[in-house]
Amino acid sequence: MSTDLAFDRQHIWHPYTSMLNPLPVYPVAAAEGCTLILEDGRRLIDGTASWWSAVHGYNHPVLNAAVTEQLAKMAHVMFGGITHAPAVQLCQQLLSMVPAPLSKVFLADSGSIAVEVAIKMALQYWQASDTPQKTKLISLRKGYHGDTFAAMAVCDPTDSMHSMFSELLPQHFFLPAPACPFDQPFSAECMAPLEALLAAEHQHIAALILEPIVQGYGGMRFYHPEYLRRARALCNQYKVLFIADEIATGFGRTGKLFACEHADIAPDIMCVGKALSGGYLTLAATLCTDEVARGISQSAAGGLMHGPTFMANPLACAVALASLKLIAQNHWQQQVAAIAQQLSTELAAAKHFAKVKEVRVLGAIGVFEMHQPVDVALLQAQFVELGVWIRPFNHLIYVMPPFTITTHELSKLTAAMLTVAA
Ligand code: PMP
Repeated sequence: MSTDLAFDRQHIWHPYTSMLNPLPVYPVAAAEGCTLILEDGRRLIDGTASWWSAVHGYNHPVLNAAVTEQLAKMAHVMFGGITHAPAVQLCQQLLSMVPAPLSKVFLADSGSIAVEVAIKMALQYWQASDTPQKTKLISLRKGYHGDTFAAMAVCDPTDSMHSMFSELLPQHFFLPAPACPFDQPFSAECMAPLEALLAAEHQHIAALILEPIVQGYGGMRFYHPEYLRRARALCNQYKVLFIADEIATGFGRTGKLFACEHADIAPDIMCVGKALSGGYLTLAATLCTDEVARGISQSAAGGLMHGPTFMANPLACAVALASLKLIAQNHWQQQVAAIAQQLSTELAAAKHFAKVKEVRVLGAIGVFEMHQPVDVALLQAQFVELGVWIRPFNHLIYVMPPFTITTHELSKLTAAMLTVAA
């Protein structure tokens, strides 16, 4: 049965598109390994891991089995007053992987909600600590944290797709995007804005929120670990909570299990999502330390005021547990290192292309930043012709493939990037 594309075009929103003049969509009939199979039979090598999530590839036997085994027991049950093995085992596994001081887990239903919960945790913590005036957040320009309202309020206020809402959102403090690239000598000057802001306003600041090391949808920018280390120290000095949004970077993507590990730091609150469930079902989590959890639990409310209907969905927890166990087997380290090496070698040719401003590689992420914004529909069509699935946006053509991609498949992706950018 083929997809009714006319109906789709007339009635169904796709991400970030118009209903009057939507971008073309490609009907996918199936996916296996690192290949998407279109309804017309064309096979595309996937360079997106479905927006960072499908790190083990598609139709994975172990992940499929986890879902079907759980499905035979129960698809869902509420989490209020009830618990279940998939949630408990997932949280045990997750806590064994994250930086040590994180010890409490809130299971959320998407990345944006995990960010909402992180912000709520920070605000409730300070309310309970008799410092309710600490209500502001610090965020970074070029940052991206999701599409719901509290999350939008910490995305770049002018240079993001949410800028039209800026006036309606809670007003927070924004620092310049870190001006200290990952692979260049660190310059201490880039800490000056954070130091000055904390010195002046710390009584009003609940938390600093940032994407560690990789600013994703704000520009695929990779910044220096020393920035994180110093930001962590400043947060300690000024009694400000440190929230790491590891939704895109978590679970190996940058070459470390969590990007915070590049700087050897641990956050007070951490958000994970995307690869958490191996790209199978919508699931995210917000983790915090004992100290934060104790504070929140002593607040007047007596607990954390959040509880989505599909919290800790057993199917999602079961597949996430299976996905994390695959990651824990540790092949990701060799896989990501090999992908990084191959991306660096094969994408280097574009450094001399007139249209390419910069070529960047970190872990299993390869980026061309172009001088001009790209024509998404045109490039998408060219990529499909070349047998690959790569989704450019703004000035960026980039890949973050499943970790299981073969050398041959990855070469196909890099060759297509070079063809399109030349
Ligand atoms: N934070 C970051 C760093 C992200 O990359 C994203 C997803 N693009 C989100 C939050 C929001 O996650 P979700 O799309 O699952 O709501």
